[in-house]
Amino acid sequence: MQFKQIVGQDAIKQRLINSVIENRVSHAQLFLGPGGSGSLPLAVAYAQYLSCEAKQADDSCGECSSCRKYQKLMHPDLHFSYPFFAKHKDDTAITFIEQWREAFITNPYLSLDTWRDYLDAENKQANINIAECHQIIKKLSFKPFESAYKILILWLPEYLDKEGNALLKIIEEPQPNTLFILVAQNQDQILNTILSRTQLIKIPALTYNDIKDHLIEKHNQTEDAAAEIAYLSNGNLTEALAMLQQDTKGYHTSFVQWLRLCFGNKGIEVMGFVDQLSKMGRENQKNFLRYGVSFLRECCLLLSGAGSLVHLPAQELETAQKMTNVMNVDQSQAIINELEKAHYHVERNANPKILFLDVSLQIIKVLNYKTIRQNADT
Ligand SMILES: [Zn+2]
Repeated sequence: MQFKQIVGQDAIKQRLINSVIENRVSHAQLFLGPGGSGSLPLAVAYAQYLSCEAKQADDSCGECSSCRKYQKLMHPDLHFSYPFFAKHKDDTAITFIEQWREAFITNPYLSLDTWRDYLDAENKQANINIAECHQIIKKLSFKPFESAYKILILWLPEYLDKEGNALLKIIEEPQPNTLFILVAQNQDQILNTILSRTQLIKIPALTYNDIKDHLIEKHNQTEDAAAEIAYLSNGNLTEALAMLQQDTKGYHTSFVQWLRLCFGNKGIEVMGFVDQLSKMGRENQKNFLRYGVSFLRECCLLLSGAGSLVHLPAQELETAQKMTNVMNVDQSQAIINELEKAHYHVERNANPKILFLDVSLQIIKVLNYKTIRQNADT
């Protein structure tokens, strides 16, 4: 992985490169960034840069023997640790290294969800077990074979149990020329003892433009499609790439149709609609709900007179304007809350039919409460 393959994050790249050029590489670092910000690919590109035999001012060469091994994640001085689903208590990250290489090379912006698919372990609890902690200590106790540095990248230290404390000694008193990079998403879920012993590198979410431009340049998206996905993905490239695989164009039409049916309190049609929703698959349902949330947030902006901040394509803007005639901010907010709750339950495998029926009933209540009150006011 070279820096130039990573979307955005120019300031972080420069900071990492400077630390190498100025010879101030800290031996234990924590790359902390939200999902889809690129913290894992940045860690790999940084490690590759450190080991490159012909470093350039702004990137690794990509051609030396070290870079070639790095590109396949097969360098003898590069190690990975990550959460997995142990089938036996002696399983360690090495048991799953083939799957790991395939997952990362296919998509360096992988999430725990995508990783779970490679492990064929839906709904199982991932962790980094004690056998793996011992393995890490063992790996880091050897001298580097080929490079100046031996590097271990530990993805998602949030999944280290108390057992993670076994690692403190190597973080505090490392062997010479070893580098320990932790790549995390949630600072709150990392053992404090580890947090206090690492140098923190904060990685921000990607910007709307980073994602939009990337989708146009590398994924042949039209300006409108890229804008919509960039907007929905909230700076998370993992989500944006997942949305590319799905039909996002249909979300607007079906979401508005759903609200109309609920507004009209059309029982039988609502049931039919719920039936369709329940068959569209978990990832699609999540994206559909996220679309609904973003769309209603735009409606709230319109309703609060902040129309200049609205980012919708023309046709959706027109619909949003019509919606604001029949809905106020409180109602939009109440529906947003219902959609967010539903998203939470879809992630946790709720029965989709019961769930979407329940959400529909809540939306009917929210929308028709206003109608009743309006009638009472007039
Ligand atoms: Zn190189």
